[in-house]
Amino acid sequence: MISAVISASKERILTSSGDETAREAEWNQLTSWIQANPTGDAVIVAGDTNSRYTRTADDLAGFVANNGLTDAWVQLELGGTAPAAGSPDLVCNEVAGISGEPGAWRVRTLSGEEIPAAAVVVATGTPAGTRRLLPADPGWDGLGPAVTAACLDLGVRHIRTRLTFGIDEPLYLSPHAPGGKLAPAGMGMVHVMRYGATSASADRARLEAFAASAGIAAGDIATSRFLPKMTVATALPTVGTGLAGRPPVAVEGTPGLFVAGDWAGPAGWLSDASLASGEQAGLLAARAVQPVARASLTAA
Ligand SMILES: Cc1cc2nc3c(=O)[nH]c(=O)nc-3n(C[C@H](O)[C@H](O)[C@H](O)COP(=O)(O)OP(=O)(O)OC[C@H]3O[C@@H](n4cnc5c(N)ncnc54)[C@H](O)[C@@H]3O)c2cc1C
Repeated sequence: MISAVISASKERILTSSGDETAREAEWNQLTSWIQANPTGDAVIVAGDTNSRYTRTADDLAGFVANNGLTDAWVQLELGGTAPAAGSPDLVCNEVAGISGEPGAWRVRTLSGEEIPAAAVVVATGTPAGTRRLLPADPGWDGLGPAVTAACLDLGVRHIRTRLTFGIDEPLYLSPHAPGGKLAPAGMGMVHVMRYGATSASADRARLEAFAASAGIAAGDIATSRFLPKMTVATALPTVGTGLAGRPPVAVEGTPGLFVAGDWAGPAGWLSDASLASGEQAGLLAARAVQPVARASLTAA
């Protein structure tokens, strides 16, 4: 029997009819390939496909049925019944705020749900976004500015590019494919960045010139994408206090509320900081709920 895992896809951009047509063609192409290449082994289909069971044109249920597949998410999370085509999309529930008191917090969602919790870890990306959700102002004044970058992604017709850094300018050029499978065989995917975005036109011109000096001629570029101002880290540590000056993971004055992100806790930088603060927040939250769990067991 053929089995499959299809990752629950998370749609990041709006879908147009052209997207639908392209996805339908991709599913059909995959079906043709699977059926033309029987190996007798289990087949696993995995990927971020931007498809939804609820979207009729995607016909995910048809893809699963036509290939004799089993969707692990549908089996394990939905009890074996896939969402019906045409039914409302399953979307993430955004958090609107946290209220209550120590030991009895309530997390409100935009859809009006209230989730009771003895401990809460808030990991919503930015200090400002986190601050808005907390029941009291945590007093995180004096955080540094966001670290930004202008980014140029290049799909190139060769794989000769080498990792290059600017010495007197904050420039970075890194071939992510081959290495990562982000481009067809024989082609490359190169990320070029300038830390500290200035103006879109100046940064784009500088990045194109940097790519040219690293051996990427205009004719080598098959496709490109310019993102003028991306946030790389949400708060630059300030001179004098450094990483130790970032807000602590345990929110002061509100026992049981914890924060995690690349701006929180004293350890790590970029995603290392998110992981370090996330681990610490998780451990502290588990410790905070233990007395509550014990008390409810005793009461029972
Ligand atoms: C161009 C670029 C290059 C980078 N390169 C590197 C690198 O090489 N190495 C590295 O370590 N780091 C790198 N980073 C940094 C790294 O991406 C971040 O530090 C990291 O993603 C931060 O993770 P996070 O989980 O704290 O926040 P996020 O990734 O921002 O996750 C926060 C999540 O919370 C959700 N959210 C927000 N508000 C709500 C709400 N109210 N309710 C529910 N959910 C909510 C958001 O949708 C989001 O999914 C790079 C970043 C950029 C932009």
